[in-house]
Amino acid sequence: MSDSDYGLPASPSPTPRDAAAPVNASDADIILRSVDAVDFRAHKLLLSMASPFFQNLFTLPQPPTSSPHASPNELKDGISVVCLSEDEHAVDMMLRYCYPRTVCPAEPTLDTTEDVKLTLVLISKYQLAGVQGIVVQRLKAGPTLPQVLSIFLKAWLLDLRDVVPIAARHTLRADVDTSEDYEELNQVPCIVLVKLANFRKACADAASARPWTDDTTQRLSFPVADFSASCSANNNYRYSLCPAIDQYLKDAFIELKLLPSGWNLVFQNQIVTAVEKVSRSCKACHANDRISPAVIKMSRFLYEEVESRISKIEMEKSFF
Ligand SMILES: [Zn+2]
Repeated sequence: MSDSDYGLPASPSPTPRDAAAPVNASDADIILRSVDAVDFRAHKLLLSMASPFFQNLFTLPQPPTSSPHASPNELKDGISVVCLSEDEHAVDMMLRYCYPRTVCPAEPTLDTTEDVKLTLVLISKYQLAGVQGIVVQRLKAGPTLPQVLSIFLKAWLLDLRDVVPIAARHTLRADVDTSEDYEELNQVPCIVLVKLANFRKACADAASARPWTDDTTQRLSFPVADFSASCSANNNYRYSLCPAIDQYLKDAFIELKLLPSGWNLVFQNQIVTAVEKVSRSCKACHANDRISPAVIKMSRFLYEEVESRISKIEMEKSFF
């Protein structure tokens, strides 16, 4: 019920204010107004080039700029106003995707789950097909995002087929908790969650499968000598590893069975923790500061191998 239903005067609409730079052009030929009343002075040509949504919108008849009957919501300073349903942050983000980097140097950083999901919504609504690649790159190479499941589900619901498989791979880095209250969970069919679980299981099996076990170390392409020759605790360095590195591998495989992600192995905090944990396993290497460089090298090796194995696991084609 609105104020006027109670006989009270309706709340006045906030007076629109202009957005800050960079999308506040003096030669603008369109104003995009956010739902929280911020005006972005933009260029139709650039918007049309970036977004079929705007291309279609601008082919519709526009009010004549000199019309004395135009309401303030339609014209401002003689420029047509388009009212959008997104807030200032969302419109700013959308414009940063539409405008060339020479005009908007700062691309959205996508360092929160909310901004990644907002970007997915913008891609879908404004048909920003090229932006899928930005999200894919972020999920591949950026730090692990919280609530990874909700990103995957959002991409699936919006049918963003470039993002879905990468978002599924991003879920391998963290526990997936289906008891969390994601709005997306209520919108996807159960079969999607079953297929994601199957994919994660297949990746875990591949990442932790033979020939990783200790007795086959000699058959691996591990540069074994790099991890044993300098270790005085090791008498048989041709085929054996320094006990600390051996322990590191055993620990890593327990982790890989749970979270089959190479990313986690090379994450800085993870390496520091691993070095602290295995240092006690070889006093000689620990005393000579050899464990940290060896773990870094081995983690890199494992990362390449695990990512290669996981990249061969395809999501089911019937997924979509
Ligand atoms: Zn050693």
